[in-house]
Amino acid sequence: MLPDLPFDPSKMLIGGAWLPSRDTLELSNPSTTEPLCRTAKGTAEDIDAAVKAAEAARDGVWGRTSAAERGRLLNHLGALVLDHVEPLATLEALDVGKPLTQARADALALARYCEFYGGAADKVHGATIPYLDGYTVYTLREPHGVTGHIVPWNYPMQIIGRSVGAALAMGNACVLKPAEDACLTALYFAWLAQQAGLPEGALNIVPGLGAEAGAALAGHPGVQHLSFTGSVATGAAVQIAAGANVVPVTLELGGKSPQIVFEDADLDAALPFLVNAGLQNAGQTCSASSRILVHLSRFEEVASRMADAYRAKRIGSATDNPDIGPLINARQKERVEAFFAQAADLPLIAETPAPSGPGHFVPARLYGPVAPDHRLAQDEIFGPVQVLIPFETETEALEIANGTDYGLVASVWTENGARQMRLARALRAGQVFINNYGAGGGVELPFGGTGKSGHGREKGFEALYGFSTLKTVAAMHG
Ligand code: NAD
Repeated sequence: MLPDLPFDPSKMLIGGAWLPSRDTLELSNPSTTEPLCRTAKGTAEDIDAAVKAAEAARDGVWGRTSAAERGRLLNHLGALVLDHVEPLATLEALDVGKPLTQARADALALARYCEFYGGAADKVHGATIPYLDGYTVYTLREPHGVTGHIVPWNYPMQIIGRSVGAALAMGNACVLKPAEDACLTALYFAWLAQQAGLPEGALNIVPGLGAEAGAALAGHPGVQHLSFTGSVATGAAVQIAAGANVVPVTLELGGKSPQIVFEDADLDAALPFLVNAGLQNAGQTCSASSRILVHLSRFEEVASRMADAYRAKRIGSATDNPDIGPLINARQKERVEAFFAQAADLPLIAETPAPSGPGHFVPARLYGPVAPDHRLAQDEIFGPVQVLIPFETETEALEIANGTDYGLVASVWTENGARQMRLARALRAGQVFINNYGAGGGVELPFGGTGKSGHGREKGFEALYGFSTLKTVAAMHG
């Protein structure tokens, strides 16, 4: 059962008004498969109306709002998010199947993004450039105008915080298309933005199917920048659609991120990161650490200690706050089970049993030793599955770590300072962690990938450059 909501989840927010769509979609609870509510099934016409509302905001009150006032509004929104952490977390647990503790952390991160970008809004400066005698030259940082945000179901609050937060800070007017599988916290956030006093049209939200509302947003000629997080195939389609309008795109497409455990690693410190970075959100995390590379001399020890940790985990309904919840839907469950079938020839080190019942549950599994070229060591599974890969030399570890199509995150566990520095440079990844993994989320830390993990950077101050464009002004005054 859905708790009482301060907004109607079947409506879209366009130009400051909550409007019905022609048709609706059913949302269900992944822990039980029971229906939760109906949400809007936005059409291409709804996207067009949202883009027009954003254009009106860009050319109207929102476009004239000072940077300091945009910062104040975002800070106010952050404070409102903090006041609503519990209802947001409960909604996310019901909608995404995310255990309550993890859902609460996402809501707190959403508040942090609003605070961080609220504080940064009036601190992005242009520059003066020394030039020829008789000239004064300077640069202006300006918003793109209308930005499109296509968001997946796995971390709605964090991904909306990092992309919409940065875009609003720079003065863009946003059109947000949340995922068809989970859009309730996105709608809640839009309602909170209204309560914070964000001018109408500055944030518009149109839930709907990817092929319909998502494709319409990606290809809309009125959009001046697109931010996409999701699968490689859809990201490539979004980039092609945006290319037709010559629109810049930020793509965040997931990974196969390694943690490398050397012979001198502090295993007591490493162990929680080795396990939790793979199992958080049931492994449905773009930056999940799904490959653990272990020096041969420590392989048995790592395998046995990780196995103990797997056996201590509990899988269950998200609102019971287990360690691991269900997968998002039946399709995702089938996908993970297909990987289990491909792993029939692999040694299974440990398994956390899944509850029998109607929810989309799968067991968490740790396999090893696994050859680096096995599909389980190459493909993004998006489930609670990790593989252990042994290595003997630093060169071999680096080759394996860099040997996938992806390059999002990597981590190195070693006390050897020279090795830390060498690998930080040589690893192909957008973020490298030394003796930790993920740095606790780090709203402040630029994030994004190389290779099939995508391009562009979100989070941190860097995102503000992506969500703005630079104009050079050269005045010849003699
Ligand atoms: P997806 O990429 O299809 O969906 C992500 C978002 O894109 C959703 O909002 C969806 O509605 C939208 N979308 C879908 N088709 C679109 C189109 N043609 N044009 C514009 N937008 C479109 O992801 P999915 O189908 O939900 O999941 C499939 C796989 O993607 C997962 O198994 C996982 O491997 C990967 N994935 C990765 C991430 C990540 O954070 N990197 C997130 C979700 C899924």
